[in-house]
Amino acid sequence: MAICSEVQPVVLIRSPSLLQAFNTHPKYKGRADLVLSLISAYDLDKKLRVVAPQKTEWRDLLTFHSQAYIDFIRSHGNSEDDELSPSQLEEADMYGLNYDCPLFEGLPHFVLGTAASSLTAAEVVVQSGGVALNWYGGWHHAHRDEASGFCYVNDIVLCLLKLLDHYERVLYVDMDIHHGDGVEEAFYHSSRVMTVSFHKHAPGFFPGKCPSPVTFNNLSFIGSGDMASIGSGPGQFFTVNVPLKDGLTDRTFHKVFTRVLSDVKSCFQPSAVVLQCGADMLSGDPVGTFSLTPHGMSDNVDYVLAWKLPTVLLGGGGYNFPNTAKFWAICTGLATGQKLINEIPEHSHYEHYSPDFELLVTTRNRPDDNTSEYIDELLETISGNFSNIYESS
Ligand SMILES: [Zn+2]
Repeated sequence: MAICSEVQPVVLIRSPSLLQAFNTHPKYKGRADLVLSLISAYDLDKKLRVVAPQKTEWRDLLTFHSQAYIDFIRSHGNSEDDELSPSQLEEADMYGLNYDCPLFEGLPHFVLGTAASSLTAAEVVVQSGGVALNWYGGWHHAHRDEASGFCYVNDIVLCLLKLLDHYERVLYVDMDIHHGDGVEEAFYHSSRVMTVSFHKHAPGFFPGKCPSPVTFNNLSFIGSGDMASIGSGPGQFFTVNVPLKDGLTDRTFHKVFTRVLSDVKSCFQPSAVVLQCGADMLSGDPVGTFSLTPHGMSDNVDYVLAWKLPTVLLGGGGYNFPNTAKFWAICTGLATGQKLINEIPEHSHYEHYSPDFELLVTTRNRPDDNTSEYIDELLETISGNFSNIYESS
């Protein structure tokens, strides 16, 4: 793996109260602790500047979220279902606050803290350039007035909007196994944010909804994240979807990632980048079905860091917590110019890396459904879409 010799200023967003807030999320209890402990175990926090999230007001969330949705979270976020009236329960359903996204004690604090973490990351790169790392962030499914897929606040959209105050064009890249639907939807009509989502695409796989049904080049649109979903109005061709299939390997993903992003860089010429590093693409993830490793995934992150643009790296999904921690520690190492040794240093959460205590992850033996014919066709279609941007500029 190439390590950049020239290292940009690097900031890590971290604070005890944010960690406490994150640990109230029913799906992610303990994950941030594991990630940040591993980063410290490798002494990486000595190679960067740690910044606590700046004070954020509820009104700062209204650049994207609706007043009514935020008001409901502020008023009822801490409630148990049996404390709500039937009409309040109906309202909670309307806002998606059920099933995957239940109300829980600490939700308002979690929402505000998460928003603050990614707004601070944006502020840091605006002020000093370089790289801001926020492993608390990356909640790409949240909509304007609807929680979805464990996501209550779309910190990514808030971060991008803040960057747009300072940069003409901002690139958003989403590496989570699930389509980045909430972010795509927010900028579907914009030519100032290009959204590029690499994800598993299969009927019935989350999020699977159709935000804006379209047909394009005779391709039928079968759900959120389809390749035919390309943006509309002034944003036409500025939405890029890269649908991938089960068994994706490091080698194939790197080929697809670098080919697509090299075209993106030359036709869109971004002034800043936000990269969502969802870790549920990794082999061994309980919801994932790809055969990717933390080292393989981080080669793609390295590709983007090598552009030396102001960059925000965010977290995302990732349900195998030790593998998630390995991936994000490697990324933190790349940003700070450190290559991590394979033997995990002893630290407070060492036992989670049993039995081998190594950074290296071996992949499951599953067939790769991404045939070379499929990948070639995919790249050809996407590259054809980019030619429309070149022609109109
Ligand atoms: Zn995901």
